[in-house]
Amino acid sequence: MPLLFKNIYYTDENFEIQTGSVEVEGKYISRVYDNAPENYAGTVIDGAGKILIPGLVNTHTHVPMTLLRGYGEGLALQEWLNDKIFPFEGRMTDEDAYWGALVGIADMLSCGVTSFTDMYDHTQFVARAVKETGIKANLGRGIVEFGGGDLYSSPRHREAVELIENWQGACGGRIICEASLHAEYTSNETVVRQMARFAKNSSLGIHLHLSETHREQDDCVLSRGVTPARYFEDCGIFENRTTAAHGVWLTDEDMDILASRAVTVAHCPASNLKLGSGIAKVPDMLKRGVAVSLGTDSASSNNNMNLLGDLRLAAMIHPGVTRDPLCITAKDVLRMATVVGAKAQGRTDCGLIKEGYRADLAVLNMKNPHMMPVHDVLTDIVYSAQQSDVETTIVDGEMVYHNGVFTMFDADEAIEKACQSAKRIASELNIR
Ligand SMILES: [Zn+2]
Repeated sequence: MPLLFKNIYYTDENFEIQTGSVEVEGKYISRVYDNAPENYAGTVIDGAGKILIPGLVNTHTHVPMTLLRGYGEGLALQEWLNDKIFPFEGRMTDEDAYWGALVGIADMLSCGVTSFTDMYDHTQFVARAVKETGIKANLGRGIVEFGGGDLYSSPRHREAVELIENWQGACGGRIICEASLHAEYTSNETVVRQMARFAKNSSLGIHLHLSETHREQDDCVLSRGVTPARYFEDCGIFENRTTAAHGVWLTDEDMDILASRAVTVAHCPASNLKLGSGIAKVPDMLKRGVAVSLGTDSASSNNNMNLLGDLRLAAMIHPGVTRDPLCITAKDVLRMATVVGAKAQGRTDCGLIKEGYRADLAVLNMKNPHMMPVHDVLTDIVYSAQQSDVETTIVDGEMVYHNGVFTMFDADEAIEKACQSAKRIASELNIR
């Protein structure tokens, strides 16, 4: 039966706020009305006091890392990674990753995220979690290949190929598999060049980390004589649709390279602040024509998957840094978090409230005290909205989250199992 959001605030394709009625039929937005039709034959949702927005797209995650939320805090970056994060991850089983992924996905669905881009290990178990929860995801097995190894002899690459063989296009296209390269400093040049060709021959997008820290940028220039962005460009990586996480230390020339290619920078403001990486020059990127989307990064560097928090940060920190309150607008940020992210995922019919687009939507309740009174709906969404305002999340026309209930899976069980996994791994490490 079709579904009608009647007389509701919604964002049009230019991200202007309109009032009207939006109809969902099957997986698509079938019609947008200025005036509500009389005697509608379908389910009607009264839109009074509500805002309908395109589902948010979280373009940089490591979703099983919800198991590491708050683990090993209070250490310097390298110590934290080497002494805490890597040993914990080394003990994570497929099942652990599955439960962790479910919890991270629950967090995302309850803040209006309808799709995410993930790089991790245990990817077939992340895919299973995606299948069971109703969310969309672009998944990649992160490749790390130090030394002289080559891509095709890497066990990680074999896992990536298995993921692609088993899950590419699964769940009616909800799952898209990608090539995933951890970063410039974690693989040799042969591997990077092979990955560029592999992605091209297999028509895959690429997900990688780029210029996250000052040290990464400096070391690359010292050892290779070029920046990471120039290096990836020279290796052919950017001939593929690419999502490049962070981009904190990009030079002007780097930005021009990215702008000339189908590269989207996944801006992760919370993670960059927490890990002391710095603040990406997003207003400069936008001026130079670089596509910029938003990401949370993992729950161990954020410490949650609530993308609304990153919308607010993205809208706040850049005016602070540039001392120009107009350097980024609420509209810029909402576009980054929706249609730009969807495009980065290669989902060209997602991210807008427009006839013929996928019905990936979130409904925000604007009656809570921190949202009222309302002079400007758009700024209410970006500056004021909280996760608790998200009433409903819809993916491909399916209501997957509504009034605190996940309709396709048991989130309470997932939380309990994830806590057991986290406790077990932490205690194994303490005994060691
Ligand atoms: Zn990351």
